[in-house]
Amino acid sequence: MRYQDLSYWLSSLDAPLTPRPGLPGDTDADVVIVGAGYTGLWTAYYLAAADPSLRIVVLEKEIAGYGASGRNGGWCSALFPTSLPALARRHGRDRALAMQRTMHETVREVGRVVAAEGIDCDWRAGGTVVLARTEVQLGRARAAVAEAREHGLADADLVLLDAAEAAARCHAEGVRGGTYTPHCAAVHPAKLVRGLATAVERRGVRVFERTPVTALRPGAAVTPAGVVRAPVVVRATEGFTPALPGQRRAVAPVYSLMVATAPLPEATWAEIGLAERETFSDYRHVIIYGQRTADGRLAFGGRGAPYHYGSRVRPDFDREPRVFAALRRVLGELFPVLGPEVLVTHSWGGPLGVARDWAASVGLDRSTGLAWAGGYVGDGVGTSNLAGRTLADLIRGEQSDLTALPWVNHRSRRWEPEPLRWLAVNAGLKVMFSADEAESRKNRPSRRAKAFNTLLGH
Ligand SMILES: Cc1cc2nc3c(=O)[nH]c(=O)nc-3n(C[C@H](O)[C@H](O)[C@H](O)COP(=O)(O)OP(=O)(O)OC[C@H]3O[C@@H](n4cnc5c(N)ncnc54)[C@H](O)[C@@H]3O)c2cc1C
Repeated sequence: MRYQDLSYWLSSLDAPLTPRPGLPGDTDADVVIVGAGYTGLWTAYYLAAADPSLRIVVLEKEIAGYGASGRNGGWCSALFPTSLPALARRHGRDRALAMQRTMHETVREVGRVVAAEGIDCDWRAGGTVVLARTEVQLGRARAAVAEAREHGLADADLVLLDAAEAAARCHAEGVRGGTYTPHCAAVHPAKLVRGLATAVERRGVRVFERTPVTALRPGAAVTPAGVVRAPVVVRATEGFTPALPGQRRAVAPVYSLMVATAPLPEATWAEIGLAERETFSDYRHVIIYGQRTADGRLAFGGRGAPYHYGSRVRPDFDREPRVFAALRRVLGELFPVLGPEVLVTHSWGGPLGVARDWAASVGLDRSTGLAWAGGYVGDGVGTSNLAGRTLADLIRGEQSDLTALPWVNHRSRRWEPEPLRWLAVNAGLKVMFSADEAESRKNRPSRRAKAFNTLLGH
């Protein structure tokens, strides 16, 4: 496998993707972390920063950034998979607001570390514009702002845009308005994850690549090359988790796919906008997301790829021609200036992790020493940093504002066995697609999508 083929981002790095050495044999450590994506590496980073004497080992089955962390849309956002109203219903208004405020602060924290560690990852804190291109979507934009106000956020956090204001940021076809939040930065995701791996090594963390963990148990991570014994074992494997023994129903791997255009001429950018490199989306149901890259491309993605029976994750699932074609079509609809045949130079995808109750979580079971973080759905770039900081506190036995947040030690129930899981996840996707189609035909909100969201507790 050529790692650079996994995403535009990995293909555009200057440094070669030569794997680090694998685990040489049985090893003792204080903390062993399985998975060298953002979650594993942020955890290692904050642990090593807080206590340089800790012996920390990271085990990665491929290379750092092989998973979603090297392939994502590069939104380092303050989005959290559970909405603010849903958090407030479950945990009360104050704790929900504390969670959201901490997510805002997390975006700044990532920016701070990136600068402090000299990680050159094209960081640009330009915020996010979410467009409304139909009356129904405009209604959703208004509702989002009203909900934010009701739950304690201000205009400075999320503001409603009229048609001219929205188009001034992102001149997509038929824009009627939208919302803007400053709490997001566009990043080059692979530069971030690869830079983090180097940063943790500078702090004495040992990262072993091409070292698959075949079993996790209290006190040990087992690999074909040897066993790492440690009182704390952290699972940071997100969408790949179901392949671990005993974890098949912990999260469902759902695929998100992306395309990138060739660098666009300045004249095209003058029409599209995104001058601050705002990340962008719109208020349809099936999520789409994009960013203007530092080298002038449009990197654009969306959900819609099927969930695969048995929670299987395979390299060929990263490529779904039907979804790539749909992404190109949507890109062309949004920006007719790209011409009838949008020129796409790269297409790729990867698995993200979805818990049964759609709630991300981070935690440590003190009785076993087993720790975990994940279930971020599509919001892991920022959230994994908060997970890493929180795990560092939990593992070191510190009680802090972070360890008091409502997602800490939350446990989702497990997914249903197959074939129910396959039916449920794919039915959900279908409902959202048909809701978008029906809305654009009838210009009124879909009741089925609303019912489905209510069912999920969104
Ligand atoms: C196409 C796409 C677009 C996305 N866009 C965004 C976005 O714009 N913003 C956002 O916030 N989120 C986005 N996400 C989600 C985000 O990328 C993830 O939530 C985040 O990267 C998760 O990081 P992680 O470290 O937990 O998992 P991963 O990055 O998936 O890392 C898990 C690592 O564990 C390793 N591993 C797995 N099993 C084993 C094993 N048995 N032994 C050893 N190692 C193992 C894997 O090889 C992998 O490197 C997107 C995801 C995808 C796929």
